[in-house]
Amino acid sequence: MSRQNRVIFTRKMRRDYKILMPMMLPIHFTLLQRVLKRAGYDLVLLENDGNRVVETGLRFVHNDTCYPALLVVGQMLDALQNGGYDPDKTALLMSQTGGGCRASNYIHLIRKAIAKAGFAKVPVISANLSGMEKNPGFSITLRVLRKAIAALVYGDMLMLLANQTRPYEVVAGTADLLVQSWQNRLIKQFDSGKGLGGKPLAANLEAIASDFDAVEIVMAPKVKVGIVGEIYVKYSKLANNDLEGFLASQDCEVMVPGVLSFMIFSVDHRIEDHSLYGGNPFKRLLAVWLKKMFLKLEANMLTVLRRYPHFTAPSPFSHLKELAEGIIGYGNKMGEGWLLTAEMLELISLGYGNIVCAQPFGCLPNHISGKGMIHKLHAMHPNSNIVAIDYDPSATRVNQENRIKLMLAVGREALDCAPVSGGAAAQAQAARA
Ligand code: SF4
Repeated sequence: MSRQNRVIFTRKMRRDYKILMPMMLPIHFTLLQRVLKRAGYDLVLLENDGNRVVETGLRFVHNDTCYPALLVVGQMLDALQNGGYDPDKTALLMSQTGGGCRASNYIHLIRKAIAKAGFAKVPVISANLSGMEKNPGFSITLRVLRKAIAALVYGDMLMLLANQTRPYEVVAGTADLLVQSWQNRLIKQFDSGKGLGGKPLAANLEAIASDFDAVEIVMAPKVKVGIVGEIYVKYSKLANNDLEGFLASQDCEVMVPGVLSFMIFSVDHRIEDHSLYGGNPFKRLLAVWLKKMFLKLEANMLTVLRRYPHFTAPSPFSHLKELAEGIIGYGNKMGEGWLLTAEMLELISLGYGNIVCAQPFGCLPNHISGKGMIHKLHAMHPNSNIVAIDYDPSATRVNQENRIKLMLAVGREALDCAPVSGGAAAQAQAARA
């Protein structure tokens, strides 16, 4: 189906259509769903999984398509075929980054696949900030955008603190219950138009940190593992075979870089592109405005975290950019680009030198800035322990987990050799006592 013939999502559809979107980050997306609901969109987060999703993807896209694209197409089609949704009242939502990688072109693959499967009348909406495609029934105003971004910041904060609390909690499940209770509180606030900007946001972030700080914990040395990689495979349980769950089962503490730094990275290179190649001045202004807002939110979050020094705070974007300088060129901006390398360097500096770099099949950009950089990083930091894990339709979970177990064995050995009294765990326990 050509771009001109695409099914437009109209204002009328907005009133009674369900909009299906793949789940990626459960905490973040649950909050985002609420923000969009308040803006008048009946968003459904797809969580269908299993072999049928992969098989459907393989049947409807070419087998050299990158794994995230294959999964997204498979999940959406599986939902249309087996999810009980009325095709006359259902639309699909897909983000279009506007960058040079395939993420900008997923949407055409989805349209082709659903037409082939007999769902040509289902509109596919593009969520983008680059004016790539427009639909009269789906417009994100700056106000809604600000709220959506605030929801993602809450997601980053909750994910970070839960990951640093869960492995040490005295009563199992406390951190997850706290996440749940904060999600409910925030949703209640969103429903009454509160909690999404300025002071209320700062107050909520402070209260979240304070609540996690009050959880009773017992510190013990654990292998600390960072997760990096292509954004979808890094975060999505469907794509990475529940990597976080697996690492938890191996008694590890996990650090997953938040989504805010990726958003700053995306607008940062838009601004850079504009100064190098010119372009629409309005788009530049929007990128500058967004960057300013993202940096402010980042500063809010880091200010709160600094008051709780026993939690490991992520580095500000400016520092991430410095870390990459001279190691990988800033021109690497497809996919996660230089940010992926910078995140590995950051994790090493924060004490999470055991790293799983999640690599999807068919993803050239991240093979360069992820797997392609491991040798160099190891030469710079001989104690780093990075393993690149391939995710593709034919890779078996057991094989992936066995390779991670080997990496963890090295991590455990290093932990056993670490001085008993000087560990971060001991310091944290003392600080929290
Ligand atoms: S970054 Fe890689 S995996 Fe992600 S959409 Fe682009 S090509 Fe595909």
